[in-house]
Amino acid sequence: MKMLNDKWLAALVAAGCIAAVAAATYGCGTGSGAMLPILCWGVVLAAGLFWGLTTRRVWRRLSERQRYRFLFWSYAVPFFAAMPTVELLFAETLPQFDRLGLKLATAAATGLTIALIYDFIHKNRQNMRKKIVAGNWKMNTLPAEGVELAKGVAAGRSEVCACVNFIVCPPFTHLAMVAEALKGSDIALGAQNCAAEAKGAYTGEVAAQMIAALGCKYVILGHSERRQYYGETSETLNKKMAQAYANGLTPIYCVGENLAEREAGKHFDVVKAQIEEVVYNLTEEQFADLVIAYEPVWAIGTGKTATAEQAQEIHAYIRKVLADKFGAAADACPILYGGSCKPSNAAEIFAKEDVDGGLIGGAALKAEDFLAIGKGFAK
Ligand code: PEP
Repeated sequence: MKMLNDKWLAALVAAGCIAAVAAATYGCGTGSGAMLPILCWGVVLAAGLFWGLTTRRVWRRLSERQRYRFLFWSYAVPFFAAMPTVELLFAETLPQFDRLGLKLATAAATGLTIALIYDFIHKNRQNMRKKIVAGNWKMNTLPAEGVELAKGVAAGRSEVCACVNFIVCPPFTHLAMVAEALKGSDIALGAQNCAAEAKGAYTGEVAAQMIAALGCKYVILGHSERRQYYGETSETLNKKMAQAYANGLTPIYCVGENLAEREAGKHFDVVKAQIEEVVYNLTEEQFADLVIAYEPVWAIGTGKTATAEQAQEIHAYIRKVLADKFGAAADACPILYGGSCKPSNAAEIFAKEDVDGGLIGGAALKAEDFLAIGKGFAK
């Protein structure tokens, strides 16, 4: 998959254009004499396309799905465009277009084949997205209990596919001890929050630098409980994100609507605003190191879960909003579902195309449940 960078993909499009134009020419029965100018025309077209796709960075701005459609049309259009040109230039020598149906079918088949190949690649690329199960312990467990819980997760980890990335996010007070308990395992440590400032006179706050020094790789930011009970705004979250990145932490940025917003049909607008106000301020490099968690507030700790279809619908929407700003990079961004996720419903939700795992609250407090959720990945 690595070789499928922008240049290779553009080369594929360009080569396809030449092939499509050549096929059109051949199909018109113009003979070898007519082939040369038409092929030149195809080469110029292909070169222009190649230049446009690479230097103008058009390709980078397209999402995977848009690329897929783009490929189809970039094969089909030159084919159709070649026909009148052939007619114009070689009207005298051309036989009747009695094989038009065949030519059209060839064009469609070419485009379709390429699109299918790309679709296959696209699906494989999706499977390359990180699968994550992250546990948000919130303000639960005493330090010794937290250590036991972490040990339990580490002990059972081998029963779950190595392709699943487990993260545990204990309270600040447990971080050092849990880091010790997780030594030798591949379970990553995360914090539930960090300060908006780097250091100084901020009583009671914990800096990103401090949690990074304790071995954290992740930090949950923008959780609805922090937005709701501690008045966290996009302005604060922008600062926290900056602190996280400055200290090498990957933010797990939470978005999600409350019940009234869902019932009023405003959930799309709510998550869009939460993304635009914070994620849109990231650089491309920062965005490449981001995890999003969609957590409908009405499903958190309530026992009510979004249906797999509801989750897929909004995850796909979130990916589109991300793609509007970051293009194809949005396809690599893991989007987790959170909200009463448990062993009994994880598999169905995780099976959805745009769901890349879960941010788990209550069920993360029992090692066996947390691990069982990880087993929900069948893809
Ligand atoms: C959470 O608060 O991040 C969460 C998903 O909680 P729960 O799983 O308990 O609903």
